[in-house]
Amino acid sequence: MPPVFQSVTPEIITRLTAIFGAENISTTQADIDLHARDQSFHHAAPAEVVVWPDSAEQVAVALKLANEARIPVTAWGVGTGLEGNSIPIFGGVLMSFERMTRIVEVHADDFQVTVQPGIGHKDLNAQLARYGLFFPPDPGANATIGGMLANNAAGIRTVKYGASKDNVLRMQVALADGRLITVGSRSVKQAAGYDLLHLFVGSEGTLGIITEATLKLVPVPALMSAALATFDSVQAAVETVVAVRGSGLDPAALEFIDAAHCKMLSTSDGVDLEERPTLFMEFHAAQPEALKAGLTMVKQICEEMGALSFRSTTDNAERKQLWTARHHSLEIMKRLHPDKKFFVNDVAVPISAYPELIGFVEDLRTADGVKTYMIGHAGDGNIHVEFPFSDEAEYQKVMATNGKIVMKAIELGGTATGEHGVGIGKMKYMPAEHGPALDVMRTIKQSLDPNGILNPGKVLPETLESTQA
Ligand SMILES: Cc1cc2nc3c(=O)[nH]c(=O)nc-3n(C[C@H](O)[C@H](O)[C@H](O)COP(=O)(O)OP(=O)(O)OC[C@H]3O[C@@H](n4cnc5c(N)ncnc54)[C@H](O)[C@@H]3O)c2cc1C
Repeated sequence: MPPVFQSVTPEIITRLTAIFGAENISTTQADIDLHARDQSFHHAAPAEVVVWPDSAEQVAVALKLANEARIPVTAWGVGTGLEGNSIPIFGGVLMSFERMTRIVEVHADDFQVTVQPGIGHKDLNAQLARYGLFFPPDPGANATIGGMLANNAAGIRTVKYGASKDNVLRMQVALADGRLITVGSRSVKQAAGYDLLHLFVGSEGTLGIITEATLKLVPVPALMSAALATFDSVQAAVETVVAVRGSGLDPAALEFIDAAHCKMLSTSDGVDLEERPTLFMEFHAAQPEALKAGLTMVKQICEEMGALSFRSTTDNAERKQLWTARHHSLEIMKRLHPDKKFFVNDVAVPISAYPELIGFVEDLRTADGVKTYMIGHAGDGNIHVEFPFSDEAEYQKVMATNGKIVMKAIELGGTATGEHGVGIGKMKYMPAEHGPALDVMRTIKQSLDPNGILNPGKVLPETLESTQA
């Protein structure tokens, strides 16, 4: 039976106001609109009320109320998701963490920090700089820690430092029935029972709401370099990715950018790229000799693999400029195509299968006659195929091509989503990716959220069938 939801009544508003305070609740159109869509192409959907919690206790009490009243609750970080993950498609309560942004404690000697969920990872790193430490997962946008953990976000540095799931030790989570629990511990080694910590990571706010997290930190690298290699074919570039990974070098970033994207990035101030398939790389080291030796080795590998050009820099300003352009690639592309909407996929495969996946995408460009751009975190087998579209007919065509790419990634031992999460758009691929394991996920959801109030319509396909009473 699909869950039946109730509307937010004036009585519920009164009770929510008592929990959060009048200054932390809003039903104004402006606030509803501001929290009705993320950065994806998915349609906006309005919540009925927006609340800004100030404490874990408020979150827990409000969840208990919403659960008893059968009202959906969708958590909101800062809305940079790319798969509609935080769009409140069944209305109800939108719980925004924009006011829970405190660093609770820096455990500098343990290389850890405990934070509230609403802090942006860039803001966190700016505050950690004085300790010489940083939280490495970097999805480009200034996403919140809660949103990153809920989506298991990753990014350009995952190849060296791992995804969000690899950089969290402990979380406090509010459950649908109002219980506040702690999962994991501050010990780096943990073997005590079921791994509930990683059950909540990547669950997109459908199993519980993260109210605090203890994160792993690493020392800020003493030295960093950036390197660029261009190739005459996409295949040569992506085969070099496998060679670099296989060489024992430990890149801190290894990104593939197709020729069309390089041309677009070159419209950024101070960025001058050749219009060719290109690898962007970054290396970290504690000593200049180690940095130099790494650059010499990667240059040699790129040349052996047929690179047409190779350049590197240890100049911080130049390196940052390149990465800024890379991080803004989506905005740059949207700016240069004002008449288009964009759908971005994020399939990922084992590294050895990366050239085959990319070759498949290239062949589809011709076979399906669909325009695509490619940019991706190649070092960890992740690609973003970007599809521009204008109308419903083009959208359907794009989705058909994307479906083939997703199924190919799954066939190659990979996944429909390496980092953006399932959200709304990828639910249809979950049966193919998980098979009978999807039933186990359903059992977990039923057990933790029997009334289906937590972010309904996401992750599990059947939750889209929920109805409004
Ligand atoms: C330009 C651009 C580049 C990007 N690049 C990358 C990239 O390289 N890698 C990558 O992984 N992502 C990338 N993203 C996507 C996005 O930044 C991530 O998905 C990020 O994790 C979203 O965080 P957020 O704070 O914006 O969360 P939101 O988008 O607000 O929410 C994301 C999900 O988290 C849930 N949620 C939020 N807070 C909580 C909480 N406290 N408890 C439980 N659930 C919660 C929401 O309900 C939703 O399901 C990019 C986005 C943009 C716009």
